[in-house]
Amino acid sequence: MLIMKGKGNTCEYCSGQGYFQLLLGGSETCNGCDGSGKTGEKS
Ligand SMILES: [Zn+2]
Repeated sequence: MLIMKGKGNTCEYCSGQGYFQLLLGGSETCNGCDGSGKTGEKS
């Protein structure tokens, strides 16, 4: 099994949550990581 070290960093926009917590309640999917909570390019 390969470990992708240095890739798939925690999303800086949502802190790895994958979504934003809204002040009025509820949540919104993070556009930065598309809800995955991770960043990094896919090949
Ligand atoms: Zn995100």
